[in-house]
Amino acid sequence: MKRREFIKSAGVGGVAVAAASTLPKPAIAQKRIEMVMVSTWPRDFPGLGTSAQRLAKRITEMSDGRIQTKYFAAKERVGAFDSFDEVASGNAQAYIAADYYWKGKHLGWAYFTAVPFGLTYTEINAWIRFGGGQELWDELAGGFGLKCMPAGNTGVQMGGWFNKEINSADDLKGLKMRIPGLGGDVMAKLGASPVSIPGGQIYENLVSGAIDATEWVGPWNDRFMKFYEAAKYYYYPGMHEPGSMISLGLNGKFWSGLSKADQAMIEAAAGLENDMMMSEYNAKSGEALADLVKNQGVKLRKFNDDVYDSFKEASDAVFEGVRAHSPLAAKIHASFLKSRADLSAWSKISDQAYVAQRNRALGV
Ligand code: CA
Repeated sequence: MKRREFIKSAGVGGVAVAAASTLPKPAIAQKRIEMVMVSTWPRDFPGLGTSAQRLAKRITEMSDGRIQTKYFAAKERVGAFDSFDEVASGNAQAYIAADYYWKGKHLGWAYFTAVPFGLTYTEINAWIRFGGGQELWDELAGGFGLKCMPAGNTGVQMGGWFNKEINSADDLKGLKMRIPGLGGDVMAKLGASPVSIPGGQIYENLVSGAIDATEWVGPWNDRFMKFYEAAKYYYYPGMHEPGSMISLGLNGKFWSGLSKADQAMIEAAAGLENDMMMSEYNAKSGEALADLVKNQGVKLRKFNDDVYDSFKEASDAVFEGVRAHSPLAAKIHASFLKSRADLSAWSKISDQAYVAQRNRALGV
């Protein structure tokens, strides 16, 4: 189409829109909706907190102010781990969280953040959107009166901060480590004592010696937390969170009461944030890692194969417990396993093979 024709046809469209706008608006379009959104992240926390705040703002903007999103960071309305009950009960309409925090309510929740030896960012998106993951998430969340969807991802997480070298699984015995989700259960099988505490309280526990080790996210977030002041050994790659997905959880009755248009808009906003958060983590992690190693005396270490094999053995035992938990947990695990097999075979000769060859040739 030539530019002049485009302008002409756009002009016709403009007239049509103007004519339509003189018609009375349907009542539903004028209904203002309040959406109270609670969160498991501290206010303005880089990446996690700022992403949640950006999503809340975007929903208000996309609806031209018709859906008024009122965002409360952790502790501003309820504590981080009370977000689930606040939304399930209908006291609030939405939460932003890592759903593995709810594994005490049902082990299936862990799969919708990350599980040991689980899926990377691109892989978990594939499972959720085209591998049956969303349907299972709907079944699980529906049982608690919730509707959940992807709303962010941190990518591959680091293995954590330790105050000594970890050369074998024996070195993990007796360690008190902050590590949530099924990753914590893996550490317990190896003789460590996992604890799950909200992000805002990790630093004080590490400095006081209440815990010996912690994982959090990756270089960009971990530098902000100043964990290097209390532990110098920084291990990679984390087996426990290879692509942690953030969840927008909505009260089920609130969700089903929305128009199809509003549902589609919220899904679009969350889907965009899923991508935005991952982009930001990727953009900022490399510089932060270099700074930690060069300027903060951080000793970067890779978990050796022996340690990784111990992680694998322990996670198989943890997964046995998931299968035994309930028929739904077993169904979620089976779906995850099928997608992981397909995705692993493909990523081996696509992302993994390409990045290995590129970095080798570049000498990275
Ligand atoms: Ca983590």
